[in-house]
Amino acid sequence: RFEKALEWANKPNKTSCGSEFSLRANIEFLEELPRLNSHGAEGVGLLRTETLLFESDEFDVEKQVAFYSKVLEAANDHSVTIRLFDAGGDKLLDDSEFEDNPFLGWRGVRMLLDKKKLLKNQIEAIYRVSGKFEKKVKILIPMVSRMEEIQAVKEIIKQVKQNLSKKGIPFDHDVQLGVMVEVPSIALMSEHVAQHVDFFSIGTNDLTQYTLAVDRGNEKISHLFDSFHPSIWRLIKMTKDAADKYNIPVAICGEMASKPEAAACLLGLGIKDMSMNTSSIPIVKSVLCSHSFKEMNELSDKVLRAADLNEVHELLDAWRVL
Ligand code: PEP
Ligand code: MG
Repeated sequence: RFEKALEWANKPNKTSCGSEFSLRANIEFLEELPRLNSHGAEGVGLLRTETLLFESDEFDVEKQVAFYSKVLEAANDHSVTIRLFDAGGDKLLDDSEFEDNPFLGWRGVRMLLDKKKLLKNQIEAIYRVSGKFEKKVKILIPMVSRMEEIQAVKEIIKQVKQNLSKKGIPFDHDVQLGVMVEVPSIALMSEHVAQHVDFFSIGTNDLTQYTLAVDRGNEKISHLFDSFHPSIWRLIKMTKDAADKYNIPVAICGEMASKPEAAACLLGLGIKDMSMNTSSIPIVKSVLCSHSFKEMNELSDKVLRAADLNEVHELLDAWRVL
């Protein structure tokens, strides 16, 4: 089935009725880059940068510039969304930072705002790269739970830009700044948030963990971790409506989009930009290309009305065997 799906990789991203969509890759390691082309990814919707942080204790600007440049080169003419370091939670920097509840702790933007040098260096590296790849670089802030964090990151970006200008280093003045919608508070406040950012990227892995109060790494309760829960669909819909109201794009970068039936439902909701592990792209694409937007929209209407998890599963299972 996979071999057959690969044949779709270089066909246009269009549903059977001609509606367009985009499938991008979630990337963590440079070794994954050659698959971008062969699997038909339109750039990188989520570049996880934590690996870089763990590999070297210096995180110097030059090393980061080299890393990001390689990803941008591999993405050809497409964009790359670089997520700021999302350390903490399950991605601990060093053992001394042990916490009782790491997923509710010093994680993502919370840590970055306490480690200003680290944050400034990363933003500087990203802006330097933006000068070489005009209009292709986007920045994504992880683990945002309150508006003030967005304002604080913007302030740092302003300082970095002033510094680069002083040094005469070229950069793209309009690098898009987005937030991960992965903490329920941000989905619930998305109408306000949408007025202060350039785009949303919904991270369904953490959105599921935090909405359902299910630790994503705990095997004892892994059966309770289910992104198809009706509450997650509602938060996604709420986020999409807020984005539409303020005319900003919304993408999805959680693993949910790598399930073809979920991707169909997301497209039915009007979310046309999805990012996933590269190996899932061909199969998702083959399913989306074989159905009409109307069919997917009917599916999402039903899913949004579902009263419980079983009902959602029945609807999506029925779609999978279509
Ligand atoms: C997510 O939370 O859905 C996400 C894409 O980020 P990560 O899995 O890296 O936390
Ligand atoms: Mg996340």
